[in-house]
Amino acid sequence: MATQRLAQRLHGIAPTIFSEMSALAVRTQSVNLGQGFPDVDGPPEVIARAVQALEGGHNQYAPGVGVPALRHAVARHQQRHYGIELDPDSEVVVTTGATEGIAAALLGLVDPGDEIVVLEPYYDSYVAMIQMAGGVRRPVTLRAPDFRLDVDELRAAVTDRTRYVLLNSPHNPTGTVLTRAELQAVADVAVERDLVVITDEVYEHLVYDVEHVPISTLPGMAERTLTLSSAGKSYSFTGWKVGWATGPRELVQAVLAAKQWLTFTSGSPLQPAVAHALDDEPDYPARLAAELRERRDLLCAGLAKVGLEVRVPEGTYFATTDVGGLGWPDGMAFCLALPERAGVVAIPSQVFHDDADAGRHLVRWAFCKQPEIIEEGLRRLAAAQLHA
Ligand code: PMP
Ligand code: GLN
Repeated sequence: MATQRLAQRLHGIAPTIFSEMSALAVRTQSVNLGQGFPDVDGPPEVIARAVQALEGGHNQYAPGVGVPALRHAVARHQQRHYGIELDPDSEVVVTTGATEGIAAALLGLVDPGDEIVVLEPYYDSYVAMIQMAGGVRRPVTLRAPDFRLDVDELRAAVTDRTRYVLLNSPHNPTGTVLTRAELQAVADVAVERDLVVITDEVYEHLVYDVEHVPISTLPGMAERTLTLSSAGKSYSFTGWKVGWATGPRELVQAVLAAKQWLTFTSGSPLQPAVAHALDDEPDYPARLAAELRERRDLLCAGLAKVGLEVRVPEGTYFATTDVGGLGWPDGMAFCLALPERAGVVAIPSQVFHDDADAGRHLVRWAFCKQPEIIEEGLRRLAAAQLHA
């Protein structure tokens, strides 16, 4: 009985779809267009800095809040890109990837029963962490085919128990980048209802022909916004797990309070290397975005060619298709059949939804891969029987 109960309880936090699909790709020797990670590492100079730090004695605990060099570099980054002024000693905390930022923010801020308005489809860790914090999610769905924010739905999701909005822009999995007007609508609701906004901006630099606006730069928002980001996406070091949370002292303190019981501190030798990346390789993310834009176009054109209705994303690593047109009852069935039929792995977006109807036919494809890999994936799709 106890083990049955446990199995049920673990269901929500079982192996993530990303781990499962990457394992499936390895097992079936498929082209992995599922889990989002680049197949080329970030700048070699940054790796050299990490090696120097490893060999130079940066191998014991870093301060819990993060090494000063990185906190100062994060503050300079926010200043340089967005004009945001931060005190590196009290308004910046280093986290073990944005994943820990999300966890520490929710565990540090949410009381049991607090409601959190969150964009659906959700990045998967939001659901697990809201659950672990005892919070209640109040979804606002970005619906196909455009995946735009419905402001009326947002307003309707807020109740007297709502304390937080958990935002993600550029948005995983849809690739939507919220416009200034959409963000202003969120800000208006936040100010009116006195909500704190937690915003996950890990794809802040990976936008294509649109502007990324940090919501903390809108009037009245700096004092109620906690911003999360990381070096993983901007510098193609997803395996380094170096992130940061920035914002008002009270919010940063809440993150730090939870972080000290999660990891205590983050990896010492990688922090000075990421500081170097932010300070001395400021143009790398824009170059990466230019490359990714071409890969997005390559993937989207190829997916359209094989008969998939594709939504061209304004940001992130991901494009979304509707597999209903190929006769599939749902995207999960399509993704489970795909390795055998085509030797390709993709992610069924229905796992990021509570609203089964909204997500049923949607499949996410990653384009953060070398062009040859994307082309090989497309060749395989073109040669396969993709109709149900
Ligand atoms: N948020 C979103 C929306 C993501 O896509 C990711 C990357 N998987 C993360 C957070 C986690 O970032 P990190 O790898 O820095 O923990
Ligand atoms: N962010 C990556 C994605 O969405 C995966 C990260 C993870 O595996 N948790 O594909």
